[in-house]
Amino acid sequence: RQPIIAIDGPAGAGKSTVTRKIAEALGLLYLDTGAMYRAVTWLVLQSGIAVDDQVAIAEIVSNCRIELIPDGKQPRTLINGQDVTEAIRSLEVTANVSAIAAQWSVRQALVKQQRAFGNQGGIVAEGRDIGTTVFPDAELKIFLTASVQERAKRRLLELHSQGNTDITQEQLEQDIAERDRLDSNRAISPLRKAADAVEIQTDHLTIEDVIQRVVSLYPQ
Ligand code: C5P
Repeated sequence: RQPIIAIDGPAGAGKSTVTRKIAEALGLLYLDTGAMYRAVTWLVLQSGIAVDDQVAIAEIVSNCRIELIPDGKQPRTLINGQDVTEAIRSLEVTANVSAIAAQWSVRQALVKQQRAFGNQGGIVAEGRDIGTTVFPDAELKIFLTASVQERAKRRLLELHSQGNTDITQEQLEQDIAERDRLDSNRAISPLRKAADAVEIQTDHLTIEDVIQRVVSLYPQ
């Protein structure tokens, strides 16, 4: 079997950058499972379906086609053929994704697709439940964390660099803490460090430090 690296952790801990770069460094495929939950959320909002309409959402998710296409720095996300790479990062999608990701039908459908992705070759997968649920036999499991303040600060810098100065550090801290709460308290596959995961607290580490650490843990 091809190797699997699982990278879990709360929102804004740096999972995306780290996962992408590790995939590059080790020649593995990059699987962003958060992008899949976001794409479904985008489709639900787009369709005008209420985020708590579990029956309609189950129907939508069982009939949708999600594609993750490697494309240099920013892999593209498509749902039903439509490129939603930028749209799934909107504040509206971010505010609603946890409610939709908590639904059983959504997780069931997406976990199945994630496992199918794992059959294509060696992968580095990021999410909340990769080491606990999606790939419990992963060769290496990492749990990335950072304080709420540090995560909000990083997000603020990112938004500023994109010319978005409408949102404050305090608002971001609240949003992040709320998403942590929802993701950690849902009934199905909550955000959890797997018993055999290595936790890396990244408050005082650079991206390069984290990558080095993960690569050094990877059994060659
Ligand atoms: O990683 P990202 O912030 O893009 O994830 C968006 C949301 O998708 C998370 O807040 C969580 O609700 C959900 N998610 C999940 N399980 C995963 C990945 C993401 O529930 N494996």
